[in-house]
Amino acid sequence: MKFNKKLENIDTYEAGKPIELVVREFGIEPKDIIKLASNENPYGCSINVQHAVTEIVPNMAMYPDDSMMKLKEGLSERFDVAEENLIIGSGSDQVIEFLMHAKADENSKILINSVTFAMYEIYAKHVGAEIIKTASQEHNLDEFYALYKEKNPDIIFLCTPNNPTGDAIDAAAIMEFLAKIDSDTLVVVDGAYMEYAQYKDQSKSVSPKELIEKFDNVIYLGTFSKAYGLGGMRVGYGISDARIIKELYKLRPPFNVTTLSLEAASTALKDEEFVNECIALNFEEMKRYEEFANKQKLDIIESYTNFVTLCFCDNIDSTQLSDELLRRGMIVRNLSGYGMNAIRVTVGTKEQNDRFFELVQELL
Ligand SMILES: *Cc1c(COP(=O)(O)O)cnc(C)c1O
Repeated sequence: MKFNKKLENIDTYEAGKPIELVVREFGIEPKDIIKLASNENPYGCSINVQHAVTEIVPNMAMYPDDSMMKLKEGLSERFDVAEENLIIGSGSDQVIEFLMHAKADENSKILINSVTFAMYEIYAKHVGAEIIKTASQEHNLDEFYALYKEKNPDIIFLCTPNNPTGDAIDAAAIMEFLAKIDSDTLVVVDGAYMEYAQYKDQSKSVSPKELIEKFDNVIYLGTFSKAYGLGGMRVGYGISDARIIKELYKLRPPFNVTTLSLEAASTALKDEEFVNECIALNFEEMKRYEEFANKQKLDIIESYTNFVTLCFCDNIDSTQLSDELLRRGMIVRNLSGYGMNAIRVTVGTKEQNDRFFELVQELL
C-alpha cells in the first residue's frame, strides 16, 4: 500500500518508555519501577483535582463543553489576557500541530534549535516543510537572527526553558529578538517549563501578556502536563493575537479536550499552593543532583526545569548506562538520538532520586 510520501522521513516519536513495557520486558514488578523519563510531576496533582474529577465522573455520557468556558476563564484570569487570545489543546502538542498546519506547507521553512523538543520537527515533516537548525546546543539568539536573515523561515521555535537541556533564555533577550523579526514570521515561545524557570530566576520569566501586547506574530505555549501534574489528562494552551487564534480554531476538532481534563485543569489552576510546593521541592532535590554530578565528576547543565541533563565523557556511554538502568527498573531518557552522550533525568521524589544515585554509582 502506498502512503503519504511525507511520512517516509518521519521517525515515530519515542516517548519515555512506559512502565507497562518494562514490566513485560524485564519481569520487574510495577512497584519496583521508577520512571524519571517524561518530566512528569513526581508528587502527582493537587488533591482538589482528584476530588473535582471524581465528582463529575457520572457526567461522562455528555460531550464536553466545547466552549471550554471554565478553563478559558481561569487562564484568562491567570495570564490577564482576553479569552479570544486563548486556544486549548489536547496537550500543547496539539496546539503545535494546529499552528504548523495553519502557517506552513511544503514550501515553508521552520527554524529550530539544534537540540530541542522533537515534536517541532515531526509536525514540520507532516506538512513537508524544510527544517533549519542552529549549530549551538543552547539557544543562541544571534545565530537564530543570522539564520532568519539568511533563510527567511515561516516559523521560528524558541523553547525556553529548553527540553532536553534545561537551559533558559533571558526574557529581555526574547523581547529584543522579537522586535527584529518581521510580522509575517510566526515565533513560537514554548514555555512548557516556565513555572519552574520563573521560580528559580525572574529574569527568565516570559510574560505571555507582554508578548502578545507588543507583537502580533508570536504565540506562547503552556501545558498542564509538567508542573501541574496532569500529564495523563492532556491539556495545553496557546496564547496569541486574536487573529492567529482564529486561524488555529479552523483546525481544531470539536471536543478536543475531554470533560474530565477540562475539569482537572481548571481546578489545578486554582491550587497555586500545591504547584509552588512541588516546584520548591524540585529545586531542593535538584541540588542533590548537582552535588552528585560534582562528586562523580559528571557534567550537569544548569537547569530551570524539573529535569537535569547529565553529560558524559568518552569513558561512559549514555546508551549503555540507560539500558543498564532500565534492566534495574530505572527509566531515564537517553539523549544519544540528539547526538549527545548524555541522559535526561526527571528530578523525582527524595526516595526516587536516592535510588537513582545508588544505581548510577554502582554502574559507574
Ligand atoms: C512536555 C512538553 C510539551 C507538551 O506537552 P503536552 O503534554 O503535549 O502539553 C511541549 N513542549 C515541551 C518543550 C515539552 O517538554
